[in-house]
Amino acid sequence: MAVLAVDAGGTRIKLGVVEAGRIVARSSIDARSDEGLGPQLPRIAAALKQIAPSEVEGLGMAFPSLVDTSTGRVTRDSGKYRDAMGLDLNSWTEREFGVPLQIENDARMATIGEWRHGAGRGFDDVVMVTLGTGIGTGVIVGGQILRGKHGQAGCLGGHIVVSINGHRCPCGAVGCAEAEASTASLPTLAAEDPGFADSPLRMSDPLDYSAVFGFAEQGDPCSIRLRDRSIDVWGSLGVSLVNSYDPEVVVFGGGILAQGEALLAPIRRRIERDAWMPWGKVQVVTSVLGNDAALLACEWLVQSRNERNHENTFN
Ligand SMILES: [Zn+2]
Repeated sequence: MAVLAVDAGGTRIKLGVVEAGRIVARSSIDARSDEGLGPQLPRIAAALKQIAPSEVEGLGMAFPSLVDTSTGRVTRDSGKYRDAMGLDLNSWTEREFGVPLQIENDARMATIGEWRHGAGRGFDDVVMVTLGTGIGTGVIVGGQILRGKHGQAGCLGGHIVVSINGHRCPCGAVGCAEAEASTASLPTLAAEDPGFADSPLRMSDPLDYSAVFGFAEQGDPCSIRLRDRSIDVWGSLGVSLVNSYDPEVVVFGGGILAQGEALLAPIRRRIERDAWMPWGKVQVVTSVLGNDAALLACEWLVQSRNERNHENTFN
């Protein structure tokens, strides 16, 4: 049976109907995240009802923060959708669609999607890193999603400290990977570069990694420094993740991966040089599902939880 899927991003809320590993219908709306999530719920419900079949098995939601999967509550204010912690999304889902909600952290959802249907398929031990506005991570260990006691294991890779004298991260810590190399931190990092005033990057709108890689290719020294330092950060992060979680494959995804092998090859070299792998060599690959990973994961999440509830009822 079909599953409703919601991927609540910072700029777009992507919606879909997933059945048998395929997105059979899709839609999206503006996120308007500065207004909060509450005002968007009627818009989400209306847009989903336009594409929903008459019967659905459940609703899965990928959310950009820490969540309590048992209560369906958002447990930390991540700066996006500031009202989300106060919302009872479970009740909203039951009321609107008559099915339970399965909510999960968005990077973990992307990891599940790649694990079941994409670049991590066939592996039991997978680490995923999404490089975009921020940095998200997710971990599968021994065929199980790593969640930890409070739901934060494996998904805070963006806040692994890579520079003890680094930049202040919006999370409050210093030198997090996300503060040292992400699209959100790029304007700050660029403005500190001694060559920024003379760099074509200064006129870039938006100032993003596609501009950095493009101007670096043309020989702009400021862009080259930003590119190389960012790759160092992502490579170091990859080393820490391999040492922490012992995966067979590390999947890199997110908007910055549009740079392809020019980005991935040096990250792979760094991981192969520095990570502990006496057993062989971890695969370092690009995501294959892109933005669809989290939507596809909604089906697996809903079905695996329904199966578990079924077992608990009859055992
Ligand atoms: Zn941080």
